[in-house]
Amino acid sequence: MTVDRVHAARALAAESGTDLLVLTPGSDLRYLTGYDAHAMERLTALAVPRQGEPFLVVPRLEAPMVEVSPAGSLGLEVLAWDETDDPFALLAGAATAQLGSAPARVAVGARTWAEHALGVQRALPGSALELAGPVLDRLRMVKSPAEVEELALAGAAIDRVHARMAEFLTVGRTEAAVGADIAAAILEEGHVGVDFTIVGSGPNGASPHHELSDRTILAGDVVVIDIGGKTATGYRSDCTRTYVVGGSAAPDVAEWYAVLHAAQQAAVAVVRPGVTAEQVDAAARQVIADAGWGEHFIHRTGHGIGLDSHEAPYLVGGNDLPLEPGMAFSIEPGIYLAGRCGARIEDIVVCTDDGARSLNVGPRELVELPG
Ligand code: ZN
Ligand code: ZN
Repeated sequence: MTVDRVHAARALAAESGTDLLVLTPGSDLRYLTGYDAHAMERLTALAVPRQGEPFLVVPRLEAPMVEVSPAGSLGLEVLAWDETDDPFALLAGAATAQLGSAPARVAVGARTWAEHALGVQRALPGSALELAGPVLDRLRMVKSPAEVEELALAGAAIDRVHARMAEFLTVGRTEAAVGADIAAAILEEGHVGVDFTIVGSGPNGASPHHELSDRTILAGDVVVIDIGGKTATGYRSDCTRTYVVGGSAAPDVAEWYAVLHAAQQAAVAVVRPGVTAEQVDAAARQVIADAGWGEHFIHRTGHGIGLDSHEAPYLVGGNDLPLEPGMAFSIEPGIYLAGRCGARIEDIVVCTDDGARSLNVGPRELVELPG
């Protein structure tokens, strides 16, 4: 970890006319400084004035944690505040001193708590509050080779969980029981945290973000399994496969699943630098629509991934952002038949000069498990 990312954020802020960035605990702060702080009511913030030196504002009781984190070796000034101090006034005063005058435009992270954002604004009356996304997304969207390898490790770990699915997903078990085993396997296979375990069996598979229920898996069920976790370095996995348990899929399921598979492959094939995010979405959507299933594909094709499971860039109609080498995102079309079942195929891919590199490599066919 070096201070380069903080300085890059400062340069982008200056370029965009933002006077002050304020980043609180979460992935923006971890990305810039390596400090994996927990979010709480006490203010911890990295302040990056457009000119002058960036600094950290931290509760005094947590100053030792900053020291031992990667942020402790970045050479940033640490302003520790005591329980009876006003940390917002401390931040505002130090930023104003760096800038020579009070900042007019202050940008906060998208996931900064409202009480912290409003506290900063109250301490800087007359400032306009905006989102730091344009600056932070710019930096975080394009992964370094080291970040790509972290995502590849996460992808391989979640692939190993899918490869073990026959151990967990059997007829007669509830979605909740299957999900508990999957969660344990996510940890066993190389994650330090479980982000989500979606076990959408039968009709529940038609609800894309269904998580778990007490529904019992029946023979012949189509089951959507969408799972992800966090590795020790903070990078995320996210992979969906669709299974049939204890029987074969009905002929019509196999027919529209083949359409879905073709759509996912078409979107992967179109990825290369310069192609826009919405063109990748359109590539998947076109295949599904042409086969007559368009109304059943009810979400965008994908989302960026890194220190957050969902981050920029979003692969959705209206996003004309051109892809660049190093951008990492999911490609996850789905077909959902309300009241009956659903299916989704999701891989994380990285845009390279030669096209998409898939970080998930398990079979994408409808996987039949003995049950
Ligand atoms: Zn997913
Ligand atoms: Zn996803």
